[in-house]
Amino acid sequence: MSTISNIDLHSHTNASDGALSPEQIVARAFSRGLNVLAISDHDLIAGVKAAQAEAHRLNELLLAQDPEAPVENFIKANARILGVTNGTLERSPQERLLTVVPGIELSSTWNNEQIHIVGLFVDVDNPELTNLIARHKLSRHERAEAIGEKLERLGFTDARARCAAQATPGAAITRGNYARFIYSEGKAESTDAAFHKYLARGKPAYVQTRWSSVPEVVEAILAAGGVPVLAHPRRYHFTNHRLRRLCTDFKDCGGMALEVSSSQQKPGDRDYLKQLCEQFGFAASSGSDFHEEGPFRDLGQNIDLPESLTPVWRCAQAEALGISPDLKQRLVEVTYKKSPAEEAAAAAAAAEAARPAAARTAPGTVTITVFHQEDDAQQSAADQAAQS
Ligand code: AMP
Ligand code: MN
Ligand code: MN
Ligand code: MN
Repeated sequence: MSTISNIDLHSHTNASDGALSPEQIVARAFSRGLNVLAISDHDLIAGVKAAQAEAHRLNELLLAQDPEAPVENFIKANARILGVTNGTLERSPQERLLTVVPGIELSSTWNNEQIHIVGLFVDVDNPELTNLIARHKLSRHERAEAIGEKLERLGFTDARARCAAQATPGAAITRGNYARFIYSEGKAESTDAAFHKYLARGKPAYVQTRWSSVPEVVEAILAAGGVPVLAHPRRYHFTNHRLRRLCTDFKDCGGMALEVSSSQQKPGDRDYLKQLCEQFGFAASSGSDFHEEGPFRDLGQNIDLPESLTPVWRCAQAEALGISPDLKQRLVEVTYKKSPAEEAAAAAAAAEAARPAAARTAPGTVTITVFHQEDDAQQSAADQAAQS
């Protein structure tokens, strides 16, 4: 079983290491029934305005009931809907409008660790924020060069240029881009394996970077009128004690929220973050950290926020953007089962992935997978395996 939320406050476009353009991610958000989507690329805001413009265009089509208006095509007849919390399945055009939240995921260094802080509702033209972005752009550029050189010494020809050629022109290169490059070269079995083999700390292509401090990042977000959110706090693999120290430091310099719910959390993590939120008096955020289509991480997927917390979308900045303080997280519970046609498509995709890298087609199409009702037992076993 999966839930799909109408609010997702963490996502990436191809302005950094996501696979979809701002227009494509907005189309996907409509098709998955989102009402609020934050674009939060790594250390840049380049995708925000295009996403906002596209949402505006599609909202107008919806209100005009234009035949070209977006449809929610993940809820087709052959998906099994188990229930809808806080709303109904069928919604009017007004209920399906999308607000794009201007956001950014800023890298920071805290006690030699790389910490991500999402800034939501930021003024993307604010000079303090754009100065920080300019500094990080330089750091990213230098690091991308250094990683490229290391990879070249490890046998990858012309790594920097060829990795950049796979990204959007001018995109900020992250390790996520290098992971995809390494995978596409057939030198790792997955992007995750590329991290384990080459890019993670202590691995041969790792390059230490000194990002801005947590207070510097928080200050820039606050200066831009935004809300600083500590991103995926459990993904740093800190002890509880160390995470609490980070929360204390984050709070002391003006941090306002914790990302309590994110995709692919381990059991127990959400409960622990809920406790931290309550103890520190943080607001709560929820975001998928969507980068590209995959079975376990998608827009709105499995990011239910515990109802007792104060959601970050109920702040003054959200209201100023037109988000009603009454907006609730609507959760569509769906059971997935591939249809025979999709089984065939998945097999074809697997065969495609097994072909030599140079012959493969580029990722980036917006496809929503829809599933049949049969054989729930098999699927729930797969779901449980995925969550473990
Ligand atoms: P960077 O900010 O350049 O250090 O890159 C961090 C990004 O790399 C993250 O936001 C993820 O998108 C990606 N990433 C981090 N760890 C992994 C992993 N184990 N497997 C795949 N991608 C990862
Ligand atoms: Mn990323
Ligand atoms: Mn992150
Ligand atoms: Mn992210």
